[in-house]
Amino acid sequence: MPAKTTRVDYLIIGAGMSGTVLRRFLRSDSVVLLDPNPESYKIGESIIPTHFSHPVLRALIPAVRKLPSYSQKWGTTFVTDAAVASFPLEPQAAEGAVHVAREELEALMRAEWKTPVVRERVTEVDLARKRVVTDRSVYQVEKQILDCSGPAMVVASAAQDIVPIRPVFSRWTYFDVTSLDDSRFWTSVLDGGRDYRRFEPASGRLLEGAETGGWAPSKTTILTAVSEGLWTWQIPMYKANVLSFGVVSRHGPVSDEQLHDLAERTHAAQYTLRRRRAVPGSALHATHRRDGFARRARVPATLDYVLVADACAFADPIYSVGTGLAVNKAIELAETLNDGGWTPAKRDKYCADYEALLKRAVSAFEYWYTGALLKDDAAAAEVQRDYLYGNAFAPGVAKHYGDAVNDSESREYDGDGLPKGAPRY
Ligand SMILES: Cc1cc2nc3c(=O)[nH]c(=O)nc-3n(C[C@H](O)[C@H](O)[C@H](O)COP(=O)(O)OP(=O)(O)OC[C@H]3O[C@@H](n4cnc5c(N)ncnc54)[C@H](O)[C@@H]3O)c2cc1C
Repeated sequence: MPAKTTRVDYLIIGAGMSGTVLRRFLRSDSVVLLDPNPESYKIGESIIPTHFSHPVLRALIPAVRKLPSYSQKWGTTFVTDAAVASFPLEPQAAEGAVHVAREELEALMRAEWKTPVVRERVTEVDLARKRVVTDRSVYQVEKQILDCSGPAMVVASAAQDIVPIRPVFSRWTYFDVTSLDDSRFWTSVLDGGRDYRRFEPASGRLLEGAETGGWAPSKTTILTAVSEGLWTWQIPMYKANVLSFGVVSRHGPVSDEQLHDLAERTHAAQYTLRRRRAVPGSALHATHRRDGFARRARVPATLDYVLVADACAFADPIYSVGTGLAVNKAIELAETLNDGGWTPAKRDKYCADYEALLKRAVSAFEYWYTGALLKDDAAAAEVQRDYLYGNAFAPGVAKHYGDAVNDSESREYDGDGLPKGAPRY
C-alpha cells in the first residue's frame, strides 16, 4: 500500500535544540516536527548565557538548575603551558550559563512547551518536488523544509552541497570525580610557573597577577591547550561529581588510548578522577568520537528550504557556542517566517548573515589556536563578548554583521556556490 501523503506548510526535520525551539516559536497551523528519537544522546554540555536570553527560554532557568546533571558555570578558564586565564561571567549573565546534560535540557524544553514530535525518520528528500519521505509516510511541503537535523545535515546531503571547513576530530568520555579541592588548582598554577591572568569585563582588559574575585575553577569550563592544534575540555556535571573530558585535534582521529592518556596527564589538579566502566545503553558510561565534523553547506537557504544551526554549518566547539547559536537562529527564523513568510530578500539576508557569522566565528577561533586570547586585550574582549556570552548570536546583532559584510563584499555567488570573496575556511 502506498504511504499516506500529508500536506504541510512547514516541515521541521529534527527535534534537537534548534528544531524544538523553532517549533515553539513558529506560528503556523500547518507545521510538523519530525524526529525518530529526540531524546538521543548529544554532546554540548557547556551552555553560554545567550542560550537563555529570550524570556521564553529564561523562564526555564529555575527548572534547569534543578536537573540532576546541572552544575554551576561561572565562566571559562583557559590553560596553556605558559599561562592560565579566567574569563568570569558577570553574576547576572552567569544566571543563564549552565553545565548540563543535553538530553535532560531538551527533555525539559519539550515537556514544558508540550512540543508535539512525530516520531519518523526522514529517509529521502526530493528537493525539486518538495517531497519528504520518512520511514512511515510522505510529506508534501507547501512552503519551506526547515532542516534542524544537526550533524546529519539531511537536506544539504540530499542537495550534495556539503563542503569541509577544515579537518577537526574529537573523542570524549566521562569520569567520576572522587575528590575535589580547588586549592590544588592554585598550587598547580604556582608550581608550574604559569602566569595568571583574569579578564575584567568592566575594563575589557586581561589583568595580570593574583586572583581577587574568589574564582572557583571547578565551577568553570576548562579548556587546555596541550600542543599545537590539540586541546581538551573539562566540563563538570552532576554538581561536579562527573567530569566530561574531551580532546579536540586538528591533526587526525584521537584514539581511546590518547584520550585516556591526556585525561590522566592534563586534567585540572582540583579533580581526582576515576574511570567509569562501560554500561550498555548509558552514553555517560561510554567513549564517543566525532571525526571531520567541521563542515558547512555551501548554500544556507533557498526559496524551498532553510538550514538551521549544525544542519547548516559547524566549525569548532572551542567557545561552547553551538546550542546558543542553535536556539537564537531558530528564534530569528521563526520570527522572520511569522512576519509574512519567506521571500527572496529574506533568503538573501539569511545567507549573508550566515556567511558573516561563520567568517567571524572562524577567525575568533584562531585567537585560541594562536594563543592571542591570553595575551591580547582586544582578542580577549571580543571572545568574551561575542562568544563566551554569545552576543554574536543575539537576534539583531547578526543583522548588523550581515549589513557590514553586504556593504563591503559582492553578493554574487562564485562557481563553488560561495559568495564571491568569502574565505575558504
Ligand atoms: C565535540 C563537540 C563538542 C561540543 N561541545 C559543545 C558545548 O560544550 N556547548 C555547546 O553549546 N555546543 C557544543 N557542541 C555543539 C552542539 O553539539 C551543536 O551545535 C548543537 O547540538 C546543534 O543543535 P542542532 O539543533 O543543530 O542539532 P541537534 O541538537 O544535534 O539535533 C538534531 C536532531 O535531528 C534529528 N535527526 C537527525 N537525522 C534525522 C532524520 N533523518 N530524520 C529526522 N530527524 C533527524 C536527531 O535525532 C536530533 O534530535 C559541540 C559539538 C561537538 C562536535
